[in-house]
Amino acid sequence: MARNKQYHQFLRQCGLKVTSTRLLVLDVLMSTRTALSHSDILDKTRGSRLDKVTLYRTLNTFITHGIAHKVASEDRNWLYALHPIDRNNTVRDDHAHFICDQCERIYCLPVQTRNSMPAPESEEGFVIRTHEYRLHGICPQCH
Ligand SMILES: [Zn+2]
Ligand SMILES: [Zn+2]
Repeated sequence: MARNKQYHQFLRQCGLKVTSTRLLVLDVLMSTRTALSHSDILDKTRGSRLDKVTLYRTLNTFITHGIAHKVASEDRNWLYALHPIDRNNTVRDDHAHFICDQCERIYCLPVQTRNSMPAPESEEGFVIRTHEYRLHGICPQCH
């Protein structure tokens, strides 16, 4: 299976050993454009022997290796997603999170405007470590 081979390569490039669990979780994350909760992922892997703890561990490994990231949902659950790939096939960790006001799904979207991040007006000791763009609107599924 070509896709499987691609996943093998991808995991090795990221410095990870290939395991069936990692392949399974990667496949779930690859097959959707929206960020998924822990239980969404468990649902989608029903029938496999993946358990809660192993899934948490796998997701954390993906995060520490820069494969996936966490996004807070509107009701403050953690969702997980891969970094999106833009038109030039570049992995974009500086993307925006598009929240659909209708279905509440969160999409990881590459954005075009760069270097225009809002910054604090005065220097009061606020050190920015990460930033998040959140865009609200209606997704293509809900039009
Ligand atoms: Zn929607
Ligand atoms: Zn994202």
